[in-house]
Amino acid sequence: MGQWVYTFGDGKAEGDASQRDLLGGKGANLAEMSSLGLPVPPGMTITTEVCTYYYENGETYPPELEGEVDAALEQIAASTDRKFGDPDMPLLVSVRSGARISMPGMMDTVLNLGLNDTTVPALAKNADDERFAYDSYRRFIQMYGDVVLGVPMRLFDEHLESMKDEKDVELDTDLSAADWRTLIESYKALVQKETGSPFPQDPRDQLWGAIGAVFGSWRNDRAVTYRRLQGIPERWGTAVTVQAMVFGNMGETSATGVAFTRNPSNGENALYGEFLINAQGEDVVAGIRTPQDITEKARLEAGSEKQSMEKALPEAFAEFKAVCDKLEGHYRDVQDLEFTIERNKLWMLQTRTGKRTAKAALKIAVDMVDEGVISEAEAVQRIEPASLDQLLHPTIDPQAKTDLFAKALPASPGAAAGEIVFSSEEAERIAGLGRTCILCRIETSPEDISGMHAAAGIFTTRGGMTSHAAVVARGMGKPCVSGAGNVRINYANGTMIAGGRTLKVGDKITIDGATGEVLMGEVPMLNPELSGDFQRIMQWADGARRMRVRTNADTPHDARAAREFGAEGIGLCRTEHMFFDPARINAMREMILADDTEGRKAALDKLLPMQREDFTSIFEIMAGLPVTIRLLDPPLHEFIPHGEDEILEVAEALGVSPDKLRNRSRELSEFNPMLGHRGCRLAVSYPEIAEMQSRAIFEAAVAAAKKTGAPVEPEVMVPLVSLKTELDFVKKRIDATAKAVREETGVDFHYQVGTMVELPRAAINAKAIAESAEFFSFGTNDLTQTTFGISRDDAGVFLGAYLRESIIDIDPFVSIDVDGVGALVELAAERGRQTRPDIKLGICGEHGGDPASISFCESVDLDYVSCSPFRVPIARLAAAQAALRKKG
Ligand code: PEP
Ligand code: MG
Repeated sequence: MGQWVYTFGDGKAEGDASQRDLLGGKGANLAEMSSLGLPVPPGMTITTEVCTYYYENGETYPPELEGEVDAALEQIAASTDRKFGDPDMPLLVSVRSGARISMPGMMDTVLNLGLNDTTVPALAKNADDERFAYDSYRRFIQMYGDVVLGVPMRLFDEHLESMKDEKDVELDTDLSAADWRTLIESYKALVQKETGSPFPQDPRDQLWGAIGAVFGSWRNDRAVTYRRLQGIPERWGTAVTVQAMVFGNMGETSATGVAFTRNPSNGENALYGEFLINAQGEDVVAGIRTPQDITEKARLEAGSEKQSMEKALPEAFAEFKAVCDKLEGHYRDVQDLEFTIERNKLWMLQTRTGKRTAKAALKIAVDMVDEGVISEAEAVQRIEPASLDQLLHPTIDPQAKTDLFAKALPASPGAAAGEIVFSSEEAERIAGLGRTCILCRIETSPEDISGMHAAAGIFTTRGGMTSHAAVVARGMGKPCVSGAGNVRINYANGTMIAGGRTLKVGDKITIDGATGEVLMGEVPMLNPELSGDFQRIMQWADGARRMRVRTNADTPHDARAAREFGAEGIGLCRTEHMFFDPARINAMREMILADDTEGRKAALDKLLPMQREDFTSIFEIMAGLPVTIRLLDPPLHEFIPHGEDEILEVAEALGVSPDKLRNRSRELSEFNPMLGHRGCRLAVSYPEIAEMQSRAIFEAAVAAAKKTGAPVEPEVMVPLVSLKTELDFVKKRIDATAKAVREETGVDFHYQVGTMVELPRAAINAKAIAESAEFFSFGTNDLTQTTFGISRDDAGVFLGAYLRESIIDIDPFVSIDVDGVGALVELAAERGRQTRPDIKLGICGEHGGDPASISFCESVDLDYVSCSPFRVPIARLAAAQAALRKKG
């Protein structure tokens, strides 16, 4: 086996930034910073391969690991002149997790490891600060107790709170060394009581306990949920970084902070961050004290009274500023940094590519092109396609009358309105009922991840812009307002109070994540306008992409929205959605209830003008761009009422007996609706439906061409074909209808007939089917369910377990299963082209809006992807990135 442990420090390192997969993001970048000669406390990274080994071998370690860890510890000891457990110069370390991509707050961290009853006096002596040493020890017992020994943090907090009550102080910083000593004794007693054993005193036991806890935390519930939501595979594993401690809590010349080299919220090219004097590690992100600004400029803008780091610690600030410039220049991208200042000496603890809002990402990419740092192609590749979704969020209508409840930090952009809920469970429940809610918390923790996902927006009363709530909300693209110190939330009463007003659970509020305002009631909103930066990136993207981007649109309204987002045609118009309109469904039902062809035709005659009108406006809106209209697809029972009340109501409206309706409903019911009497099978049973729809399409094409003066060339698409003979049967009717419409109107027009490829048989027999089909559109929703033999309606029930157990990495209905469904797509494309080299190939399943699937489509040379209107910009960008990647 290879190497399990990599060391860094003292201006050198065994790994570098390219080894994220092995060392995790944190470990790889610490190695890189160390090699760049930046001030990094020495340490070691235990690789992600150890994590994989650990889970594959019954939670045990590779036999060589212990030796490698010992050797690395020696090296750290030598470079710091300290030793593990030494009563004079004890080495203290931090133990942190670090996956390939960052999972903020998802896994566990232990600081101050190595402290025990013997080393704590040495720390006090070396630091010449007793209070600091005992504070560090009690923090260690608390963190280690929680993370490694499983003693709930709440119990430690209770002890701490009662100590503060007893001493009648408000802040932790008001407690003395003697107070901490007393608290340490009660913490130790707590550990003994909860675990049945004393708190471990041997630093080596402490270390192995912490390493085990970090590996164990890879599979804790919140990490598992986070990975599921972010599509991160289970098998990646986490690395563990063990690093010499430096202290931000050694008095007024010490501090700890986090910063971004540019503003992650709006992209402004200005150092941006927060810090706390005399604080340790997690205090800033935990949101327990509200932090101070790093630069004087930011402080003035925020109107804060608290000193900036620039003023409070000018030398450390100057060095930090230089490090920021160096790192941004080195990585050629915005960096997100963690640092500690120990008695005026700067130490870098982390750097990584800064997460940013979509708005900031666009501005930063465009600015960096203008600054000559990156090329236009790189700028296009820098934008996460899915993040564009954030730009499509609504904002508060400036004309709206608003009533301000409170104002706090604008932590994540976009506005959202909904019912107040105070817990994640409640957020999930309300969302499950189809209602929108705002999750209101004092602060959020990683346990809240599902609730944050379910809520429309997040509001917290504690914590800064880098608090858990803010970071996670920005990642999710959810509006968030944080740190509203003047609002008091009372979970027990279900209330929140500000300025003498009380809101209760269920009351409606609106939050504006761009201004930090919390408004009473549901405030009117405006749809977003896309900025100049957006237009420039999209222009570069459009220049780089090969595939066209169409939209799935069933109504003129959707078609119009999609064109505004840059759709270049319609890839799928599902005609059945037009029939579900309440004004039309009864005509559809009459057709279904008709006893014979004549009766059906009479009902279809009523539907014809409605369909024609829809198609005419769609053709007009798409002004000569290609439009694929699919003939009726779903099983007919979907249109029939099922409940008894509804049967009576519909029977009366249609003037038929309830029995007739009941009987037809029974006849049509199927156990396997998605495999049943649907798609072209309907057209085979009832050709008159296909004839009516084709007539509506052709008449609309004639009408629209007359109105706009531009020729319309409709693409008529036959769904769920598996046999060439099925397609031929329907095509014959379509062609005959076209001929009739040409004769009746005296207008000549072009059209194409093609098919969905959404059944494995169609993919395999694509060569024959292409003899009749002028285009294929891959219906990967149905193709996924029929290839796997799972139903798209209920697969969610068990796919969760498949993801959890790493049987699959990602839901195949979300991102195309390249090896199976993708192989069929590739095969069909190849075989279709053998028969008809210029056959038009596109995709219209949900995958058409998924960046990874779009990349696959590029690899098999499809001509276009088609997706819902709001995903069109995402698809344009993803298609450009795929083309650029292919070019290399
Ligand atoms: C498909 O099956 O991928 C498709 C686009 O059709 P529908 O979702 O309407 O079945
Ligand atoms: Mg389908």
